[in-house]
Amino acid sequence: HLLYLAQIEPQLRSVRAMLQSGDAPQEPQGQQPIDALRQGIRFEGVGFTYADGLPPALDSVSFDIPAGRTTALVGPSGAGKSTLIHLLLRLYTPRAGAICVDGVPLQDLRRTDWLSLLAVAGQDVDLIEGSVLDNIRMADANASHADVLAAARMAGVAEFVEPLAEGFETWIGQQGHRFSGGQRQRLGLARALLRKPQLLILDEAMNALDGELALRIRQAIDEHLPACTVLVISHHADVVRDADHVIHLDSGRVVPPK
Ligand code: ADP
Repeated sequence: HLLYLAQIEPQLRSVRAMLQSGDAPQEPQGQQPIDALRQGIRFEGVGFTYADGLPPALDSVSFDIPAGRTTALVGPSGAGKSTLIHLLLRLYTPRAGAICVDGVPLQDLRRTDWLSLLAVAGQDVDLIEGSVLDNIRMADANASHADVLAAARMAGVAEFVEPLAEGFETWIGQQGHRFSGGQRQRLGLARALLRKPQLLILDEAMNALDGELALRIRQAIDEHLPACTVLVISHHADVVRDADHVIHLDSGRVVPPK
């Protein structure tokens, strides 16, 4: 399961770190199929503690992520944002309360079905030795060329790759082209978008982009994937101004906006 996640979300460092440390938690396997996110996700009194004796990383957390909308999750470092993503990715199970997807507890769903509906883009994007096309297509080896280009356009990749002499065939790697942090983030977004996710988790995925570009990419996502549910995670309240609603998290709890 972790290996699968590491393949589809290579930028998710926490997953790789768990794999490397052999600290892969064993969780029960649900059997209920799911092929779409229709109503939304509800966190109901969710509590989670990493180990006995530690303070809770999440404490009685309740909120909704309505399907087809953009929900922003904002909070300072240590607020519990990553923990919440780990629970959504089913790396861990809540110790209290429940996370329900269209009314079904997450742990009852068939895990591979659930993960196939998700994509995560993160702050740090690891590129592989290969062309720009290879780097995007690794998110879905069966994607058509047209789909890869569409994802690249949506994520603002085409505009900096097309002017290069070799365009999408530009080689990335030790002897290859070096992309900036912001350009790498855009490549990471293109990977995530190529999966045409039902739930797109943007975990500080645009913090190296200027505000205008980030807004343009978010608008392109709204336009091309209108049914996509977006969860934007950031410690900066101002990057999520255009979200449909904002959840503020602090010290593991949902708090009123400051
Ligand atoms: P954020 O992503 O908002 O910075 P985290 O979810 O990483 O917050 O952390 C929430 C709390 O859980 C913090 O107090 C953090 O120290 C603790 N924590 C996070 N990961 C672990 C872990 N693997 N083991 C123990 N405590 C952890």
